[in-house]
Amino acid sequence: MMVKGVYVHIPFCSYRCPYCDVYSLVESPVGPEEYVDLILKEAELYREIPLDIRTLYLGGGTPTKLRPEEILRIVEGIGEIFRVSNFEEITVECNPEDYTEKDFRRLRSFGVSRLSIGVQSFSEEGLKVLGRRHTPSEAVRAFLSAREAGFDNVNVDLIYGYPGQRPDDLKADLEKAVSLEPDHISAYLFTPYEGTPLGLKVLKGELKTPGEDEISTLHGILWRTLKEAGYVRYEISNWAEPGKECRHNLIYWTMEEFLGLGVSAWGFIGSVRYGNLRSVILYAEKVVSGERPVGTGVNLTEKDRFEEWLMLRLRTRRGIPPDLIPEHLLEFFEPGPEGLTIKEDYMILTNEITAELLVYNSIGRR
Ligand code: SF4
Repeated sequence: MMVKGVYVHIPFCSYRCPYCDVYSLVESPVGPEEYVDLILKEAELYREIPLDIRTLYLGGGTPTKLRPEEILRIVEGIGEIFRVSNFEEITVECNPEDYTEKDFRRLRSFGVSRLSIGVQSFSEEGLKVLGRRHTPSEAVRAFLSAREAGFDNVNVDLIYGYPGQRPDDLKADLEKAVSLEPDHISAYLFTPYEGTPLGLKVLKGELKTPGEDEISTLHGILWRTLKEAGYVRYEISNWAEPGKECRHNLIYWTMEEFLGLGVSAWGFIGSVRYGNLRSVILYAEKVVSGERPVGTGVNLTEKDRFEEWLMLRLRTRRGIPPDLIPEHLLEFFEPGPEGLTIKEDYMILTNEITAELLVYNSIGRR
């Protein structure tokens, strides 16, 4: 096996969104330029592993807290260290308020081929609940600027099922998103993470998220609207125009190997899933001393691999062989490209169905 993609985590953010559980820093003891130096130094530590790098993904945090020149240093540096003459895809995640059309043009000229814009909602109310500081018009402006700058592969990130969201709110968000004609739409179900201020409010009952039936209604609106608009669902939270699927994410979802660089980044090399240290100071110390800044690592067993394979096959709708499905669950399935796949209306129950299938196919039976 070979490493096919590189993920780079950029931890900087202008503010901390109250629902977010990723490692990000509003005030950082390590500045952007120094951080880029560290990323490239860390990459050097992997120079000798077997690789055939095709994709580069800059995620965060907020990569557009870096100036375009710093993004160029990462693109060029990673290309040089891993001997990549031409990436098949380079994605940069961006927040709507950071870059102008001129900045997007610069990214384009550096070979960045795909943008993922963190819109989350096109409604003022939705953005307020989620604690986002950009406005709906800034989100539209960012999208149009990206198009003007020549990007023909742009993703819009949305969140649905957040506290107080009604079916009409979601319909309005989707209508706006579809009217812009993005190439790709990611729509994530709101999750109240315990360690986040918004998550805590929900878990304490101070804020109410839509109940099971309401979520099911929202999910129905979501997939039907995007299907009617011509998007193909190729992962539980991801829709694309045919041919515009995110190649980097497909590496994750087909269990291929990838390198994760940067504080808190995840990677998968050989049979090991590893996570980098979640402190930028400790991360910097390790990299400066010439050691890989890995905090955790799990060597996947055959059972782990089977479980991941099953989960990913269901999330990506590729399908699984019928004999892995107990009789009482068959009503939730329909024929898919490589076996039986969960019917679209039941995709919202994917986690529950996967859990039942894992018990059914547990080691004893296999
Ligand atoms: S949601 Fe994005 S912008 Fe907000 S804190 Fe998290 S990483 Fe930063």
